[in-house]
Amino acid sequence: MIKFKAKYALTFMLIMILLLGACTPQTGTNVAPPAKTPDQTQQPAPQPKPEDEKEPEPAAPQADYSAIKANENGQIMLLMYHGIGSKEEEWVRTPENFRRDLENLYEKGYRLITLKDYIENNIKVEAGFTPVVITFDDGLQNQFNIIEENGEKKLDPDCAVGIIEEFKKKHPDFGQGGSFFVYYSNPFRQKELIKEKYDFLIKNGYEIGNHAYTHENLGEQSAEGVQKALALNVKSTQEYLPGYDVFALALPYGIAPKDEKFQYAVSGEYEGTKYNNRAILRVGSNPAPAPNHIKLDAARLPRIRASELKMGGTGIYDYLASFEKHPEKRYISDGNPNTIVIPEKEKDNINKDSIKDKELITY
Ligand SMILES: [Zn+2]
Repeated sequence: MIKFKAKYALTFMLIMILLLGACTPQTGTNVAPPAKTPDQTQQPAPQPKPEDEKEPEPAAPQADYSAIKANENGQIMLLMYHGIGSKEEEWVRTPENFRRDLENLYEKGYRLITLKDYIENNIKVEAGFTPVVITFDDGLQNQFNIIEENGEKKLDPDCAVGIIEEFKKKHPDFGQGGSFFVYYSNPFRQKELIKEKYDFLIKNGYEIGNHAYTHENLGEQSAEGVQKALALNVKSTQEYLPGYDVFALALPYGIAPKDEKFQYAVSGEYEGTKYNNRAILRVGSNPAPAPNHIKLDAARLPRIRASELKMGGTGIYDYLASFEKHPEKRYISDGNPNTIVIPEKEKDNINKDSIKDKELITY
């Protein structure tokens, strides 16, 4: 299949080159290209076409699946952080430890992706590497802090965003991502800088998610209460970022609306503001299934606590060690987001309906 495509592309390019050659003398007399609208005209437009056709080619080289042990139905860690602070606590990671987490992930072959790319099955990690998602709850100031130095505003190098940005500069191949689940009225606790921070986050590949309007316990809310809490969060975020797609919810306290009210965690409306959570994150304690796994339930995604305190064998370092011992359990990319490559034995664990326009390849 792939070989056929490559051949086809090659033939096409050859034709284009010949065509280009044939056109050259003609355009030579004309000096400037015809000042026409860029839509289809009779005349072949020699310049941009061959370039356009070249573009998809680099995606073609096929990895040696068994050599890299490709398994795009393996598990993916969705890591959960809260505060970054000077004293390590159950819900606080020190800047040093957070840097060490990133270093360990990087060294052990993990690459950052966004939650959206995970949930939309659009994983663009290099062949042989494992995607990882990092999330932060509560919108604390130590996640994104702006300090002033000599009258100039700058990113606090010890806040979460500062640490990630510094790490990305050092390791540009680490990828981009990071979801911040905020509540209101003052995400990141520097009110005059909310807009500036949101713009920075979006520009740099981060995401902003729903953590209810005022961190409500959704288990105690009525149907209307749940919708109010979730819709007002979206409305507030969109006041800073018009039209922004708030597609994910991290449940405050890890508590979901009860029974039939659970549907309002997924979608609802309050005073004209609608929301639709395509990913709902719990506190959890285990890695999440791959996007095409039969066990994937996007409304109940487990997260791993990125901590080393009171973890009982379910923290980030427990899973890093476990995946080293059992690499067959881990998601390993084939490097091509359009193909889902799995070992033969994973065949029955694939939800065939979720494959859509991708190509499923077993080996
Ligand atoms: Zn919270």
